[in-house]
Amino acid sequence: MSEWCQNKKCPDKKNQNQIRGIKGAKYYQSNKANSYMGYWCTTGCREEWFNDNKDTCMRAVGLIDKQTVNLDDAWYVEYRYDYSIEVPDRYHLINRLKGINQSILQTQAQTAESIREDRCWSTISDNEARELAVTLGLTS
Ligand SMILES: [Zn+2]
Repeated sequence: MSEWCQNKKCPDKKNQNQIRGIKGAKYYQSNKANSYMGYWCTTGCREEWFNDNKDTCMRAVGLIDKQTVNLDDAWYVEYRYDYSIEVPDRYHLINRLKGINQSILQTQAQTAESIREDRCWSTISDNEARELAVTLGLTS
C-alpha cells in the first residue's frame, strides 16, 4: 500500500498544506493517504478516484445479478435513538416482509459484551435476530 493518496488529481486541490519546494521551484504534491480511508486522503479524493476507475474495478470484481433477501431472512433488530422514547421501547425485532415489529428487551437485542461496554446502539446480527424470532415463536 502506498503512503500517498491514490487520486491522481489530489495535488490539483492546491491546498496550502500541499505546497513543497524552495522559492522559484515550488509545487503542489499529493496528500498522504489517511489511515482511516486506506488509499485516499479524503472521501472527495476517493470519489474522484472511483469515478476515474469504476469500469476497471467492475471488470476486476465482476458484475452480479439482482440480489434478494427472502421472507425468512428479513429479520433485524433496530435501536431507536431518541430521548422521547421510553427506554423499554428502544429495541425492536423487525421483519417488514412479515409485517412484524415487536418491542424486545435490551438483553434480547444486544450481546452481553455490548451491554457491558455500554454500546447501546450495537445490536445482535441479523442471523441472531432470526434465531430470536424463532425463540419468541414469531417464525419457525
Ligand atoms: Zn487526495
